[in-house]
Amino acid sequence: MTTKYLFFTGGVVSSVGKGVTAAATGLLLKERGFRVTAQKLDPYINVDPGTMSPYQHGEVYVLDDGAETDLDLGHYERFIDIRLRRYSNFTTGQVYAQVISNERRGDYLGGTIQVIPHITNEIKRRIRLAAREANADIVLVEVGGTVGDIESQPFLESLRQLRNEVGRENVLFIHVTWLPYIGATQELKTKPTQHSVAALRSMGISPNMIIARSDYPIDDSLCEKIALFCDVDRRAVVPMMTTPILYEVPLLLEKAGVADYVLERLGLKAPVQPDWSAWRALVEKVKQSKPTVKIALVGKYVELKDAYMSVREALKHAGLAENVEVEILWVHSADLEKGKGWEIVQQADGILVPGGFGSRGVEGKIQAVRYAREKHIPYLGLCLGMQLMCIEFARNVLGYEDANSTEFDRSTAHPVIDLMLEQRSVTEMGGTMRLGLYPCMLQPGTKAAAVYGVPSIEERHRHRWEFNNAYRKEFEQAGMVFSGLSPDGKLVEISELRDHPYMIGCQFHPEFLSRPMRPHPLFVGLIRAAKQRAGLSSNL
Ligand code: GLN
Repeated sequence: MTTKYLFFTGGVVSSVGKGVTAAATGLLLKERGFRVTAQKLDPYINVDPGTMSPYQHGEVYVLDDGAETDLDLGHYERFIDIRLRRYSNFTTGQVYAQVISNERRGDYLGGTIQVIPHITNEIKRRIRLAAREANADIVLVEVGGTVGDIESQPFLESLRQLRNEVGRENVLFIHVTWLPYIGATQELKTKPTQHSVAALRSMGISPNMIIARSDYPIDDSLCEKIALFCDVDRRAVVPMMTTPILYEVPLLLEKAGVADYVLERLGLKAPVQPDWSAWRALVEKVKQSKPTVKIALVGKYVELKDAYMSVREALKHAGLAENVEVEILWVHSADLEKGKGWEIVQQADGILVPGGFGSRGVEGKIQAVRYAREKHIPYLGLCLGMQLMCIEFARNVLGYEDANSTEFDRSTAHPVIDLMLEQRSVTEMGGTMRLGLYPCMLQPGTKAAAVYGVPSIEERHRHRWEFNNAYRKEFEQAGMVFSGLSPDGKLVEISELRDHPYMIGCQFHPEFLSRPMRPHPLFVGLIRAAKQRAGLSSNL
């Protein structure tokens, strides 16, 4: 069939859930039997978010092929349950880098390089590439930022051109906006939406559908007003009140008739009817009252919860599978160093140390690891969290007081975590870590093998340092088990403590492969152990 495109733009303000809306719409279409892919266009000039501060960018979401991408790709993968590739996300920086390199190679034969057509052609090429590579019936393309941003103009212009090239009947523009609430008069306002649609029109794009977001109920008359002023069908104005239940969004969009309208406008017939029973059951489970399990998340970007988006979701998924409400206790690792925040850690039924870079707050995390080990609190360490588990063990079990990672102390006498061999010659910071999917063999009889229930796995990575094999024997003799190894046996992928209910660290990022219906085994293991610690009935 002819490839169809859904273009998602944002109006009024960012952070209103455009990514989730696109992801959920993708699910509506996949449920109807279409092959769907999703792509995010990021207007910033960085080549990728890999070198950006989590405070600036939020989580860097890693794909199978090692692409370091926007966190919206996490929403796409979790909702639509697809595996995306490098072409699924690109930035202005990548587009310019490509065009400039073409120019240096002489590809443009002396022409003057301009935004139109050179930059826009490159943008369109990349969108078509995603459609082709994914062999998709329907491609959802989300433009980051909001209409009116100076950076997003070339993207919008490219979408306008693409619409003409592939035919209007194959394209729909979906504009996601925000209705501000005026407290004094207790009303929602549509004017900013009207203005953002006017801005979109000035670029030659008339939206076909408007998804109006608000924290308050949106009544019918407002939808009519938006339809009238923004020149869209009344059926195509979709009121979307904020829901505390993320995974309810597809059901709400379904109820609002989004998919039916989209298919009608694109002239498509659904090969199959959607079956929402599993999603309904999932949402029902979320709504049920359940006993609470508290997990302390000891990190350094805890002010910005988006920095740990996939970890939060993975905890949620595991909680649902285990019929508990997972309450995340956010603990700033630097606070622990100052003796603050321990009362929070003490309440926790489990401790999680996520990935991280740089030395700030590392000692606080190591103290949290020690607490988990000595007090037998269930622990899951992700990437850096695994490395710190090894450092703590070296210091306090083996007695190597200055044991460290060479990331934090280049001259430590006991570099139990050391730079990987292939990383030693690396000088460029962007895209040069050990990235993406790598296989790992699970050692029979270990806790890791038990939670996974399979002999080998593949997980997504993002790191430069690794466990130093010179210390393997000593660690093993003292009670550390290396339960996951690379197929050649040389790289420690999972370590766990023998005499502890559940203390596991992994060199990879399991959070990226957790799905609402398929929680990740390592997270399920943590929640089970935490349940037991909390005295809740457990099926362990
Ligand atoms: N900074 C550590 C490394 O590069 C851990 C990285 C991470 O947690 N993602 O190996």
